[in-house]
Amino acid sequence: MASKDDSSFITVPGFCPDCGSILPLLSDQGGVICYACKREWGAEVFGDMAMTHTLHFNSKHTYRSAKEADNEDSAEGPVVERRCPQCQNDKMSYATLQLRSADEGQTVFYTCTKCKYKETENS
Ligand SMILES: [Zn+2]
Ligand SMILES: [Zn+2]
Repeated sequence: MASKDDSSFITVPGFCPDCGSILPLLSDQGGVICYACKREWGAEVFGDMAMTHTLHFNSKHTYRSAKEADNEDSAEGPVVERRCPQCQNDKMSYATLQLRSADEGQTVFYTCTKCKYKETENS
């Protein structure tokens, strides 16, 4: 097994660095043996080709659903004195949510503790 990490060692991907013969495909063990000179080489002789072989794409897309904003019924935030425009109750709980970039402020969600009336306010 060749383990040369010398960057000045010039290799042509897919060709034996020693005799220049075309190398067979990379085996499952990650090595390859030259047919001509019988030398064994690691995956590095394939250069970028070997990179694409072992590259794993993790395309995990985590979409934050709007449902998270609807969980206020079970976990309501602190209560502030704020008059509900619907039932005139003077207490509403609030939760803040950073919707945009930090310098643009945040959105405050108010929920009436009595009738559950919701309103939002941008600060
Ligand atoms: Zn060779
Ligand atoms: Zn209310």
